Amino acid sequence: MSNGPALRIRSDLETVAPYISPQHTAKYRMNVNEAPYAPPVALVEEVTRGTEAIALNRYPDRDAVKLVDAIAAHTGWAKEGLWVANGSNEVFMHLFLAFGGPGRSSLTFEPTYSLHSLIPRIAGTRTVQVQRDIDFRIDLEAALDTIQEEKPDIVIVCSPNNPTGGCESLATIQALLEAAPGLVIVDEAYGEFDQHEHSARGLLETHPNLAITKTFSKAWRLAGVRIGYMLAAPSLVRELARVRLPYHLSTITQLVGVAAIKHAGETLDMVRSIASERDRIATELAALGLKVFPSNANFVLFEVEDPDLIWSRLLEREVLVRNYSGQEGLERCLRVTAGLPEETDAFIAAMKEALDG
Ligand code: PMP
Repeated sequence: MSNGPALRIRSDLETVAPYISPQHTAKYRMNVNEAPYAPPVALVEEVTRGTEAIALNRYPDRDAVKLVDAIAAHTGWAKEGLWVANGSNEVFMHLFLAFGGPGRSSLTFEPTYSLHSLIPRIAGTRTVQVQRDIDFRIDLEAALDTIQEEKPDIVIVCSPNNPTGGCESLATIQALLEAAPGLVIVDEAYGEFDQHEHSARGLLETHPNLAITKTFSKAWRLAGVRIGYMLAAPSLVRELARVRLPYHLSTITQLVGVAAIKHAGETLDMVRSIASERDRIATELAALGLKVFPSNANFVLFEVEDPDLIWSRLLEREVLVRNYSGQEGLERCLRVTAGLPEETDAFIAAMKEALDG
């Protein structure tokens, strides 16, 4: 190949590490918070039938009208206040392209979902991080001080928080909404697994600077399809149309989303059982004498003396969990995704052996 011009990436991206969630083969894959259950047969059949009727030579419906209408009916939130994209990650990208970008800043509460800092950086936004308190809740005093000092254009709250599992109180979210000079995103990707009603949904009506993001990747068992959505004020939604690519949601994606909502009852049926496996994991780990962080999501974060060693001993026993020991504030932490009862059994049995050496 001939020598072309030296290509140099944007200088502000030189220190950005690509997102990686290490993949290994294992019988029990409990590392990425997916659902272990395939979607219901009735949904899959509906998608199969619908796919045959699609004109694949045509572009999709640019505004995904049927899907937006279905989500509006399911959530009870007006369609003008809904935005749909390829996973909630793409919703974040749209929000940062429209409301972040050069000369602007965003605030996260660490440790949290790494994409909440990675996506703004890709969009050229300066990121500010405040550490959570000892229980991994938002330290409201530190948060309000930072908001006053930095005046972030976007504040992101993850509730339930990944990877720590807990939810923020509505009082905390309300205080952030009232102090923030701009947008507050509340990421409720795991909200369906929270049985204690922490959703910020009730604050939408009164706070036009609130955007709640949700996903079909967890409770809806459709991580492979890539659907996420946002509930917000119509004025906020209108701005996002400026930054999305034309025809961003494929016809097949839209079809699956509509079918999922039609079969919502059956699709979401496993949420309760996954939440009870989560509670069983937490109880069993605590019985082994480990520190376990209370979770409202479909995973459990816990501490061990030597996370690298325990992680590899689990993998030797075909159980794959997520090792967070490289991340600040999580030096002794592993995270395990809750799913099938037999996965819980295999994980706990492997943990007992791993701890015994
Ligand atoms: N938010 C949180 C907190 C997550 O953990 C994830 C997935 N790991 C997402 C958003 C992204 O989900 P998706 O893009 O699949 O909707």
